[in-house]
Amino acid sequence: MRIVTLGFGALIIATHAAAQPGGARGTPIQPGESCPPGMTEIRPRDCRGPATPVPSILDYRPKSTLVAPSNPRQKAKYPVIDFHGHPQALLGSVESLANMGASLDSLNVRLMVSAGSSTGEGLKRTIATVNSSPTMKDRVRILTGFNFREAVGPGWVERAIAQLEADVAAGAVGVGEIGKGFGQTTTKADGSRLAVDDPILNPIWEACARLKLPVFIHTADPQAFYQPLDYTNERWLEMSLFPGRAISSDQHPNFEELMTERDNLFRNNPKTTFVAAHMGWHAHDLGRLGKMLTEMPNLYTEVGAVLYDIGRQPRAAHDFFVKYQDRILFGKDSFQPEEYPYYWRVFETRDDYFDYYRDYHAFWKLYGIDLPDEVLKKVYYKNALKIAPALPQAGWPR
Ligand SMILES: [Zn+2]
Repeated sequence: MRIVTLGFGALIIATHAAAQPGGARGTPIQPGESCPPGMTEIRPRDCRGPATPVPSILDYRPKSTLVAPSNPRQKAKYPVIDFHGHPQALLGSVESLANMGASLDSLNVRLMVSAGSSTGEGLKRTIATVNSSPTMKDRVRILTGFNFREAVGPGWVERAIAQLEADVAAGAVGVGEIGKGFGQTTTKADGSRLAVDDPILNPIWEACARLKLPVFIHTADPQAFYQPLDYTNERWLEMSLFPGRAISSDQHPNFEELMTERDNLFRNNPKTTFVAAHMGWHAHDLGRLGKMLTEMPNLYTEVGAVLYDIGRQPRAAHDFFVKYQDRILFGKDSFQPEEYPYYWRVFETRDDYFDYYRDYHAFWKLYGIDLPDEVLKKVYYKNALKIAPALPQAGWPR
């Protein structure tokens, strides 16, 4: 191990002794082998280590020398519905609502859908606060949810449906976000895991269809979290920064088991409209997501927190968004006003090779996917208005 102090005082720890400055030239490897740690393949089957101390991945920050058209977008081209909002902390007073409104105006987000599964008295209080704001009363809507903390047992389904009906009467416009605990940690009264496709829940999905409520659901975690935490994992830095995110490869249900249960849920309840959050964690495999959308006409999807995958495949993503333009909703997830403009830039421009806002998600640059105006309108607001008829329907561009 070498410890090197750079001019600006940062300590860099190069953990691989093999990375000696001026390191062994011409270290050969066999076909199919990788270079030893601290070396790279400079010619076929010929490895070498750098001649100067090696920075960690945190400290290597190359500045792009590319000179190319740059069209950052502060405001979206059309008004936007954020279907995956978590502004709960801002919904408590007329003043904080007004502050949020100013942020939304600066982005051209017209309507915030709070996906906090708010129910009962809490839901009523929030709706009363929103309604008391003359400027924000038409700009926030609330999704309700189910109380999975109270384990599913006798009478639970009937109580859940009664509460759902009460929440709709109070003004809820949909259901969600049903969180990733559903399928992983949520249990039934007998202590067993409540599977995503447990038929005991089918009556509540049928009630959602009857009440015209879309069901917004987040299942599992990014697929890379289930893969070994080694230096080939694209999310290594994130899992190292947030160790709780790594999932042991022998955990059950694993990623594919959860995806199977989720798809069974969608298939077994064809009258219910489902919105799979985060592009179902298949934004890195658009063929798979496209197959699901083709097979399941009751399925929609949402783009929150997967921009790093959309923006790294501009041609495939463009074609996907055009093909499934009636099935994709805009959503941002965490409410950080300064992050929305990256979405507008990816969706609306042809820009090449620009930075993403969170480098521990992605060690790569983004590209604009240049969506046509009609596709932008559908993704930004038309699809949400279609699947959630209780949203404010007036005043949107045609
Ligand atoms: Zn969410």
